Amino acid sequence: MRTYVFFLLCCLFASAINAQKPVSIALRPDAPEPEARAANVLRLYLQQITGQPVPLQTTEKVPDGYAPVLLGKHPALQQFGLQQPPALPGDAFFLEGKNGAFLIAGGGGMGTEYGVYTLLELLGCRKYSPRDSFIPDIQNLQLPDYPPTVETPAFPYRELHYEPAFDEGWARWHKLKTRRDKDADWGLFVHTFQHLCPAELYFVEHPEYFAWNGAQRSPGQLCLSNDTVRQIVTDALREKIREKPDAKYWSVSQNDNYDYCKCPRCAAADLRYGSPAVPCLVLSTRSPRHFPIKQSPHSPTSTRQAPRGIKPAKNVSVCLCSIECNRGESIEDGCADFARDVRAWSALTNHLMIWDYVVQFRSYVSPFPNWHTLQPNLQFFRQHGVNMVFEQGVRARPLEFSDMRAYLLAKLMWNPQANMDSILTDFSDRYYGRRGRLSGHPSTG
Ligand SMILES: [Zn+2]
Repeated sequence: MRTYVFFLLCCLFASAINAQKPVSIALRPDAPEPEARAANVLRLYLQQITGQPVPLQTTEKVPDGYAPVLLGKHPALQQFGLQQPPALPGDAFFLEGKNGAFLIAGGGGMGTEYGVYTLLELLGCRKYSPRDSFIPDIQNLQLPDYPPTVETPAFPYRELHYEPAFDEGWARWHKLKTRRDKDADWGLFVHTFQHLCPAELYFVEHPEYFAWNGAQRSPGQLCLSNDTVRQIVTDALREKIREKPDAKYWSVSQNDNYDYCKCPRCAAADLRYGSPAVPCLVLSTRSPRHFPIKQSPHSPTSTRQAPRGIKPAKNVSVCLCSIECNRGESIEDGCADFARDVRAWSALTNHLMIWDYVVQFRSYVSPFPNWHTLQPNLQFFRQHGVNMVFEQGVRARPLEFSDMRAYLLAKLMWNPQANMDSILTDFSDRYYGRRGRLSGHPSTG
């Protein structure tokens, strides 16, 4: 009998614990806009998960009887034994779950919202594609215990050129640059000499502005050691910056071909510095004296080799592209010259962007067996201090496994050490095969 009573009391105690306090969201009264926005996103999803209204509390103290998700440096953190979050760089976030409460704090404009998406994934939510999400049904939602954790992206700039990433909601969920932000941030993106010193405008009267290929001048590239060309490019750039003053990045980069100028002056610079990249680098290094912004010389194979005896200015970001690499092997195993150039440039600058190709362009629906290279390549970039990654897929659909490719790449761009097998198993089970067997409901959100 005594055992039975004890068992009964235990059950009652357990049920008192399990009679969960309703979840709420606690926003400090003076919350900045990113936290208020993140709170609204979280509320929307928590209401879908629980099927109930979720209160948004904006008082300094959290009212009794709630299990709150607290956002930012909320004055009620001590009420639940939660830590003060540390200072966080842009996009990074801090999570802690304790005593039935959960804290999300983020850096910059997006960190808190990214933390919200990570909590939602901890609760079982997924956004497999812009068209396929999974939201679990949990009536008595219990916020998880979670050790104090800071998550910082492996690459501060993450852009994915696959169709799902053009969807604002999907890109935000997966912590990627959205199309809207990309358009706002970039003044000029790539292959910009054609805009800064157009052949249609200058070639007939001034062929000397353009590249000497050993036999004649060719309009495909510029002669970058020509002082007039440098002035034309600088003036054109100044004008474009005046038209779009809030843009962060301006690409000063070669046109889309493998040519480069071999005139005596350019060739002398190539010889002196050991790379045809130098005339372009000198131009971009010169420009920041006029423009306090980042610029990005885009380096095709011909100008990709790192120079000696010269460094990029601090506000110049060098972009290397991997278009010629064999995609059957990782870059380190199968593209030794590109790996060499990444290592060499990383010794010269902390601002290195990689334009990486993860797609083949001949037949978008044909199998492209490069899956085993995606993770080691991103790990290699991370290892060598790359801070901007552009993964070049294709916007069109349908493609060969394009939703799964985009999903995997987004996860790996945030954390190249993530467990790839778990990501792919989770995706394939729910997206392709086993969704119908799971409790919960798909969502179009
Ligand atoms: Zn030249």
